[in-house]
Amino acid sequence: MEKKLIHICEVCGKTEIMTPEEAFNDGWDYPPRMGGFGIVGPRTCGDCPINLTVWWALVSEKKRVSELSQQQMETIKRIQGEPESIMTKED
Ligand SMILES: [Zn+2]
Repeated sequence: MEKKLIHICEVCGKTEIMTPEEAFNDGWDYPPRMGGFGIVGPRTCGDCPINLTVWWALVSEKKRVSELSQQQMETIKRIQGEPESIMTKED
C-alpha cells in the first residue's frame, strides 16, 4: 500500500490527499507516476491543462524565474521540497 500524499493542483488549487495510484487513476499529473519528486514539471489535477503550469511557462513560454508570479514561485518552492513538502503529518 502506497503512502498518501497531498496532491495540490497548481492551476485550480484543488487539494486531495490520496495515494499516487489513486491520483494517477483520477488523471492527475503528479510524481512519482508522472515526472519525479523535486523536478519541476506539471502538478495538475485531471481537469486542468498543462499549459497553465509553471513548468509550461518556463519550458514553452521561455519565461525567466524573475517573471514568474508569486503563486508560481510558491509552486516551484513546493516542488523543490518534495516529497517532504507534500507528505501528510498523520504518521
Ligand atoms: Zn486543477
